[in-house]
Amino acid sequence: MGFDLTKEQLECQKMAREFAEKEIKPYAAELDKRPETAFDWNIVRRFAKANLLGLNVPKEYGGLGVDMMTAVIVAEEIGAACLGIMSAAAGNWLATTCLKHVGTENQKRRYLTRCCGGNALLAALAVTEAEAGSDMAGIKTLAVRNGDHYILNGTKIFITNAGLANFYIVFVTSDPKKRHSGLNAFIVDGDSPGLTLGAVEDKIGLRASQVGTLIFKDVKVPVENLLGAENTGFLIAMQTLDMSRPCLGGAGVGVSRAAYEIALSYARERKQYGRPIIENQAISFMLADMAIEIEAARLLTWKAAWLIDQGMDSTKASSMCKVFSTEMAERVCSRAIQILGAHGYTRDWPVEKYYRDAKAMAIYEGTNQIQRMIIASML
Ligand SMILES: Cc1cc2nc3c(=O)[nH]c(=O)nc-3n(C[C@H](O)[C@H](O)[C@H](O)COP(=O)(O)OP(=O)(O)OC[C@H]3O[C@@H](n4cnc5c(N)ncnc54)[C@H](O)[C@@H]3O)c2cc1C
Repeated sequence: MGFDLTKEQLECQKMAREFAEKEIKPYAAELDKRPETAFDWNIVRRFAKANLLGLNVPKEYGGLGVDMMTAVIVAEEIGAACLGIMSAAAGNWLATTCLKHVGTENQKRRYLTRCCGGNALLAALAVTEAEAGSDMAGIKTLAVRNGDHYILNGTKIFITNAGLANFYIVFVTSDPKKRHSGLNAFIVDGDSPGLTLGAVEDKIGLRASQVGTLIFKDVKVPVENLLGAENTGFLIAMQTLDMSRPCLGGAGVGVSRAAYEIALSYARERKQYGRPIIENQAISFMLADMAIEIEAARLLTWKAAWLIDQGMDSTKASSMCKVFSTEMAERVCSRAIQILGAHGYTRDWPVEKYYRDAKAMAIYEGTNQIQRMIIASML
C-alpha cells in the first residue's frame, strides 16, 4: 500500500486547486455576506466549463470520469475554498452517482450527458420530508401508476438546488404502509407541470447554496423514468450515499485545512507578551492537534475512496470518514477562531464562516448519529 497519487490524480488536484483559488475563493466572502441566499449561476457555469459538474460521470457520457480517490481530492480542494459554493456541485455529484449506478443506458444517455461539459445542467437528490428525515421509510410523497405514467403528489423539504435543478432524483412511496419496501426513485424534470418551489431556507451557513422546499402536485412522470427495479428505492438511496459520503470526508478535510492554515500564519505573526503567540505551547499544541486530526481524517477518507475504487464494501468506512471528518472540521474551525481571538469572532476573517458552513456536514447525507448506528450495526 502506498500514498503516492497517480499522474492523473495529481493533475486533477492541481486543476481543482487552481479552479478553487481563481473561480471560488474570490467570491466566497461576498456571497456569504449577502442578506438573502446567494446562489450564483455564474460560478455554476464556471464549474460546468471545467467539467466539474460531470466530475464522476464516465468519459463515454462526456464527464471527467474520475475514480473515487480523485473525487475526494477534488472535494478537498473545492471545500477549502467554499463549502457553500461547493454544495451546488455536490447536488450534481449525488444525482450523477445515483444515475451512474442504477440508470438504464437510455436514462444515462438522456440525463448523465446533460450534466457534462460547458452547458451542463444542475441536478439534485430529493429525499427529505417533514416526517421523513433520518427515517427515510417515513416518506409520504406518493407515486401512483396511471398507464404509461406515474402521478406524484407530496412535499420535499431541505433540498439543495431546489427550484434551480434541471432534474431531480426524487424518492417516493408506492404505499406509505410498506415503509422501506415501498420506496422508489424517479428522475423528474425540473420544468414538469405541477412541480413548484416552496420556501427557501434562511440558513446559518452555506449561504451560497439554495436549499428549499419542492411541492409536487399531480406531477406526471413517464414510466421510463423509474430508476432501478420497482420498490428498490431504499437500497438505491443507501448505495448512493455510501458512494457520496467520502466526498463529504474530503470536503471536511478541505475546510479544516483552510482554517488551520489561517490559524498557523496568524499565530506566527501575532505578538503578545513580546513574542509570537505560537511560542506558547497552549497555542502550538492546539495547532499540532489540528494538524493530526486533519491528517487522520484525510487517511480515513482515502481509505473509504480506495475501497470504492477496488469495488469492495465501503459502507462502514464511508460512514466512519463522514463522521470523523465532519466533526473534526467543527473542532478545527472552532480552534481556529480561538487562536485568532476577537478577530476570529468577526466577519473580517473567514474562519467563522468555515465554522458555520462545516456544521451542516454533520447533518446532511445522514446525520452523524445515523452514521454511528450504521457503524455500530457492523461491529
Ligand atoms: C444544508 C442542508 C442541505 C440539505 N440538502 C438535502 C438534499 O439535497 N436532499 C435531501 O433529501 N435532504 C437534504 N437535507 C436534509 C438532511 O438530509 C436531513 O436534515 C437529515 O437527513 C436529518 O433529518 P432531519 O433534519 O429531519 O432530522 P431528524 O431525523 O428529525 O433528527 C433530529 C435529530 O435526532 C437524531 N436522530 C434521529 N433519529 C435517531 C435515532 N434513531 N437514533 C439517534 N439519533 C437520532 C438525528 O441525528 C438528529 O440529531 C439537507 C439538510 C441541510 C441542513
